[in-house]
Amino acid sequence: MQTIRRTLAHGTLVGLGALNLAQADEAHQYRVSIDEAMQRMVVEARFGSSVDTVTARSRDAGEFLADVRDCDDASPIRLRNQRMMLPAGGIRCMNYTVDLAGAARSGAHNRSLAAENIVVSPALWLWRPALEGHTEIHVHFDVPADLQVSVPWRRVERAPNSYRLGRSPESSDAPAVFGKFDYSEIEVPGATLRVSVLRTGNEAGHAMDLASIKAWLQSTATGVSLAYGRFPNPSPQIVVIPADDKRQSTGAVPFGRVVRDGGEAIELFVNRDQPMQAFLGDWTATHEFSHLMLPYVTPAHRWVSEGFAQYYQNVLLARSGTYEPVDAWQKLYEGLERGRQSRPELSPNDATARGMRNGRMKIYWSGAAIALMADVTLRERSGGTMTLDDVMGRLQDCCLPSERTWTGPELFETLDMLAGTPVFMPLYKRYADTAGFPDTRPLFDRLGLVVSGNGLKVRRGGELQHIRTAITKADGAVGDRRERLARRGQVSRNAAGSAGS
Ligand SMILES: [Zn+2]
Repeated sequence: MQTIRRTLAHGTLVGLGALNLAQADEAHQYRVSIDEAMQRMVVEARFGSSVDTVTARSRDAGEFLADVRDCDDASPIRLRNQRMMLPAGGIRCMNYTVDLAGAARSGAHNRSLAAENIVVSPALWLWRPALEGHTEIHVHFDVPADLQVSVPWRRVERAPNSYRLGRSPESSDAPAVFGKFDYSEIEVPGATLRVSVLRTGNEAGHAMDLASIKAWLQSTATGVSLAYGRFPNPSPQIVVIPADDKRQSTGAVPFGRVVRDGGEAIELFVNRDQPMQAFLGDWTATHEFSHLMLPYVTPAHRWVSEGFAQYYQNVLLARSGTYEPVDAWQKLYEGLERGRQSRPELSPNDATARGMRNGRMKIYWSGAAIALMADVTLRERSGGTMTLDDVMGRLQDCCLPSERTWTGPELFETLDMLAGTPVFMPLYKRYADTAGFPDTRPLFDRLGLVVSGNGLKVRRGGELQHIRTAITKADGAVGDRRERLARRGQVSRNAAGSAGS
């Protein structure tokens, strides 16, 4: 396991850093102090220019707020409807106190955690002005030496506990973690994962010790880099949270999600009593990591982001050797069939507008059908020299991580431009507002896959079988490492079992 601390920023960050330095005078400077017992947070916000509105993202933030003042004359600032009533003419500096312990108690994440580490979203404590242009917020945390901080924002190099957040989609409440927990930086192709494994107070005796958790994350993120040679975000925040009892029922990683707010965070709820094999076979982390290959797509077109993640999760788990190729195709086939049966009277856009409750499978799989169709079309048209992976790689180069929310058509138009041939937008026009489901069955036939009973069989002579083989071709080195990891988990589990008996 490599946990090398990087001193040089990734290439794209260097570029962005240079750009932002030019506007550094505009930055808002926040100093956030936290006491040893993590009871109170004191924030001083010194604005780059006069500000007349500050808000917190959560409706509940006001509950935990106290003693808000103008720094210059110490006059109090009142709160109304989640807005601070700033004096006419604006304000240059303010300070306030947050009941951090109270905010922590209100958060569902903390139920399964030991008191020494807490998750309190910036939505509850970061009162901020809207960011215009290139203006950034620089946040420096003043914490006792034995406490750590984890946030999704970009680190300021060589300035511990200092971060910059610029404009970004705000998809949900991002995690900010404070206290004593295991923090490490894990190198994978093209990225340094900033991984925090949170503590329950019951650290010993899990099938997955810390080293195993990190080995699993490194292997899974490396598997995701098989799309185009590098992990899609150069420095994501990854928070590993013990699953609570309610979520513990199923699998190694019962729940995961991507959150965007000033940066990209992935939360993974894990059941550390499951063995390494269960972790390696679980698709949740691969699915969430795959989401980072696209920008944040508006909830109205959520079927696009979910679908691409579903497609890639299966393709990438085949490439990393986790699934046999035919099993990956079987999973894609079954998923697409579930999507086809889900709300056939609705289009993908309509199903998404009506919400997850009834059309979940349609929302998760219509985009996967389109990703598959686009991938095959690109490969067929170019004789194999242009693939969906290539287009995703170009999208990362030009546009990720993105500071804004994209619509489905904007994304598809950009993908067409990057592909140099219209593939995506024609699919969008044909299917996004059309009831039913993209018909992928003739495509499976051309790929050399036939339905046989409940399963799929490979048949000889499929016209596009070379494309099928290329899409799910395993990477030998990654596969070998994963297999060794699985065996190591098996051995240590057996050893632990015999020692206990
Ligand atoms: Zn998803």
